[in-house]
Amino acid sequence: MTISNYNFAGKKAIVRVDFNVPLDENGKITDDTRIRGALPTLKHILNNGGALIIMSHMGKPKGKVAAKYSLSQIVDAVSAALSVKVQFADDCAKAKAQADALKAGEVLMLENLRFYGEEEGKPVGIEKEDPRYEDAKKAMKASQKEFAKTLASYADCYVNDAFGTAHRKHASTAVIADYFDADNKMLGFLMEKECEAVDNILKNIRRPFTAIMGGSKVSTKIGIIENLMDKVDNLILCGGMTYTFAKAQGGQIGNSICEDDKLDLALDIMRQAKEKGVNLVLGIDSVCGDNFSNDANQQICPSTEIPAGWEGLDAGPKSRELFAKAIDGAKTILWNGPAGVFEFDNFTGGSRAIAEAIAKATAEGAYSLIGGGDSVACVNKFGLADQVSYISTGGGALLEAIEGKVLPGVAAIKGE
Ligand code: AMP
Repeated sequence: MTISNYNFAGKKAIVRVDFNVPLDENGKITDDTRIRGALPTLKHILNNGGALIIMSHMGKPKGKVAAKYSLSQIVDAVSAALSVKVQFADDCAKAKAQADALKAGEVLMLENLRFYGEEEGKPVGIEKEDPRYEDAKKAMKASQKEFAKTLASYADCYVNDAFGTAHRKHASTAVIADYFDADNKMLGFLMEKECEAVDNILKNIRRPFTAIMGGSKVSTKIGIIENLMDKVDNLILCGGMTYTFAKAQGGQIGNSICEDDKLDLALDIMRQAKEKGVNLVLGIDSVCGDNFSNDANQQICPSTEIPAGWEGLDAGPKSRELFAKAIDGAKTILWNGPAGVFEFDNFTGGSRAIAEAIAKATAEGAYSLIGGGDSVACVNKFGLADQVSYISTGGGALLEAIEGKVLPGVAAIKGE
């Protein structure tokens, strides 16, 4: 079933959203992107004559009630966003009566699902090292099913629009789907858009395809790099991982960040690229600082000749040119991870050059997907967010999807 085809008239829909929004010390929302992201789905259901039961997690309360993670803090904001007074159920597992009383056009929001350990299905208060952990985990899996069944009992249909947690097999993101037949469960609009974005770079690829992977480490990106190696024409590897590659090739990298146990892996990636005919682009020069700070003294050095006492903090001018060349003319572009320590204003040039090249290629007809918190922060910082094709809302979920993994939240509905 799809959300566009489903007839919500007279139905109650339980919708998993990601309302894990950042709050300040007074409980005020500092960034409402996630609430705005779910609005098309929520409004569609209301406009089509349905009633809404909204459920989400917030923070990491680890199975215990904690006032600072209460979703009651955002009820007013959600009411304002929906132009409907949202009712609140202060125990998500005891909301049946409130759900039964809901009429078309009304909205009930459940308290934080993670106040119950059953949501994540992890034992509460027992550490992994504890010999009782495995038994506790088994028991918890059984009560997770009961918890999911209770949530399911509130509604006629289930909608998952929480892409941010789609890589988790939790009660509300996956297990609950077992209690609805295929005609009564569906992805929300945000989930549909995110899945389409992933398909655009993994399945419906227009060539040439340039992927830009940056950030601090090779180790956290290796799954993605390996999956992309079979798909891309150009692979730009930048950011902190530059220096693991530089050292692996016998270079001097001064104090630059480096994963010494990944030198062989770096050489292997270079070998794989050669074998597969992928144009691997590594930064050949760097803007170096004499300490890890925005105000560090700067000099530009070849990335394999960084003097002692200095560290590479951004891509240098020659690297930026190489990156722009590999992005120019691309028809599919994926960017994950900055090319330098973009949090320091004096070391944003490499990331900016990439963002600008992507905006230019997009204007010339490329499909560009930006994902992962830091690259999204980059395009926002440079004011280029409206000049790329799609900005993903999912950090971990997007990365796992690009690694080629099936997301449990999607599989639970589509059965893949
Ligand atoms: P990740 O979480 O692996 O995507 O990495 C993002 C982080 O990588 C950002 O906080 C950047 O500051 C950091 N980063 C990028 N380039 C470098 C570099 N040359 N040295 C140290 N950190 C870097």
